[in-house]
Amino acid sequence: MVKDSVCFNIFRFNPDDDKEPHFQKYEVPLNKIDLTVLEGLYYIQQRLDDSLAFRSSCRAAVCGSCAMHINGKHRLACNTLISKLESATITIQPLAHMPIIKDLLVDMKSFWENYEYIKPYLITGKTLPTTGEHAQDQDERARIDNLIDCILCACCHSSCPVTATNEKYFGPMAFLNIDRFVSDTRDGAKEERLAIVNDEHGVWRCHSVFNCQEVCPKDLNPSGSIAHLKMEIVKNVLRQKA
Ligand code: SF4
Repeated sequence: MVKDSVCFNIFRFNPDDDKEPHFQKYEVPLNKIDLTVLEGLYYIQQRLDDSLAFRSSCRAAVCGSCAMHINGKHRLACNTLISKLESATITIQPLAHMPIIKDLLVDMKSFWENYEYIKPYLITGKTLPTTGEHAQDQDERARIDNLIDCILCACCHSSCPVTATNEKYFGPMAFLNIDRFVSDTRDGAKEERLAIVNDEHGVWRCHSVFNCQEVCPKDLNPSGSIAHLKMEIVKNVLRQKA
C-alpha cells in the first residue's frame, strides 16, 4: 500500500562551502501515488531545495545517468519505485569510488577512461572487408545477446570491492564490454583485447564477490564475462604453445 509521505535522507556535500559531508532529511508527499525515487528527488529540487544536485536524463532506465546508492544498494533512481523499498526512510548516497562534485553528482572521469581504453567498437582488421554488410548467423548473434545492453550506469563499478581498493583495476563494466567484442565473430582484435584484460589490473584481480551481477539494472552478468575472458586467455596461451 502506498503511504501518504516518505522521508528522503540525502547525502549532501558542497566542496565549496562544506568542511564535511552530512545527511539532510526531506519529507516527500505521496498522496497515495507511487512515485519513483527520481520523481521524489525532482519534487525536492523543484519544491523544497533547489540546491540539491543529482544527474538524470532519460527517466526510462536507458541512459544510466541516475545511478546512485539507494537504501543499501546501487540502483537507478528512475526505475526504483518508492513502494518497492518498503521503508519509511529512503537513504540516498552518490555512486562510490569516484570523487564527489556535489551531493549525488560524482566525477566519472576514471570510469570513462577505462571504457575508452578497452576500445569499445568493432575492429574488423583483417577478418572482414572494410565496406559492405558484415552478416552473422543466428548462433553467432546469440553469443552477444546478453552482452550488448550495458547502459554504462556504473552500478557494478561502485559495488565492486576491488575497484574500491585499486583505482587502476579495469572493473566489471570494462570486462563485460571487452567480452562483448571478444565474443563477436566480426571483431578482429581478440588477441589485443585479451592482452588488455590479462594485465596486472585485469581479470585475475577479480575476487568473485558477484556484487556486479547482483546490482546490474539490466540483469547483465559481468562475473560471467570475467570467467569467460579467463578461459579465453588460457585457451589463447595453449594455442600459442601448440
Ligand atoms: Fe551498469 Fe550493468 Fe553496465 Fe555495469 S554492466 S555499467 S551495472 S548496465
